[in-house]
Amino acid sequence: MAAIFYVGSLAILPALYMMFYGFRLAGRAYSIDQWLPKWDTLLILCTMIILERLYRYRYAVSQRSVLTRDIISNVVNLYVTGMVTGMIVLPALVFLPQHYLGRKIILASSEQLGPFWLQVLVILLSVSFFRYWIHRLQHSIPFLWKLHSYHHRVTDLQASNTFVSHPIDFALRNVVIFLVLGVIGFNPFALLMTVPATGISGTFSHCGADIKGGFLNYLFVTPEVHRWHHSEQIPEGYGYSCNYGVEFSFWDMIFGTFYLPQKDGITEQPARIGYPGGGLADESNYLKLLLAPLGLYRPLSWFRDVLRIPKGPHGQQPAE
Ligand SMILES: [Zn+2]
Ligand SMILES: [Zn+2]
Repeated sequence: MAAIFYVGSLAILPALYMMFYGFRLAGRAYSIDQWLPKWDTLLILCTMIILERLYRYRYAVSQRSVLTRDIISNVVNLYVTGMVTGMIVLPALVFLPQHYLGRKIILASSEQLGPFWLQVLVILLSVSFFRYWIHRLQHSIPFLWKLHSYHHRVTDLQASNTFVSHPIDFALRNVVIFLVLGVIGFNPFALLMTVPATGISGTFSHCGADIKGGFLNYLFVTPEVHRWHHSEQIPEGYGYSCNYGVEFSFWDMIFGTFYLPQKDGITEQPARIGYPGGGLADESNYLKLLLAPLGLYRPLSWFRDVLRIPKGPHGQQPAE
């Protein structure tokens, strides 16, 4: 039984890859995109929710009290953040170099950037390399950490909090690099082909089920790998954190930030998930998550207080 469970765990990630690439290569993905945008991410989230029910994790912590915040955050980052970032960043990427340097940022036509398979490989490596480093900076630069820290206040990794993150934090790590590569002139279809590879394990890494990664832990960011990134106690000697990779774990191995302890052949997991070093509870108020890091939450509460109708002497609203 344990062996079947283990093999089943290992098969989930490759099965998702095969399914999404099957759809893309068969040309079916575009028509589904039209019908239900982001259907692939939604399908991964549903798979994660089912697995969380089937394979209960022994340290699971209920996320019910922050469910509203989770739903708003997921919807915003899935459907709004990318579009707004494109509207702000694309004009800057296209017009500023033209205005100040006298030429476009586009370096070459798609054909000049090499054969299709090479472009897919270069995009995959560029996206994962960029995300690794921007994520590392998001832990070490104080302002970026202010934005990113809300993602680290969750008390368990679950499908529900996969996209809980400040929109600017989310955009810097997940959107900007795709816009830059698109503007440089990579084949749009090559860019599209890398989306499942960069999206599946990045999303799946927040699955709260007790599933094992086995040898896949050393290639992809599995839940076992990502839990250590969210550990309340940072492993000794790892500075701000460990396991910064978003989809592939080999960048962490190359740059010395990979951490996945084993005991008697079993992969160990952190006992507690939460704000590094403890001390800050999860933030259930989405407005606070959105405005506080930008210094805008206090003015908003002041404005709300000013607008509030004063109460009568016995706590009742004054008669009109
Ligand atoms: Zn992080
Ligand atoms: Zn995370």
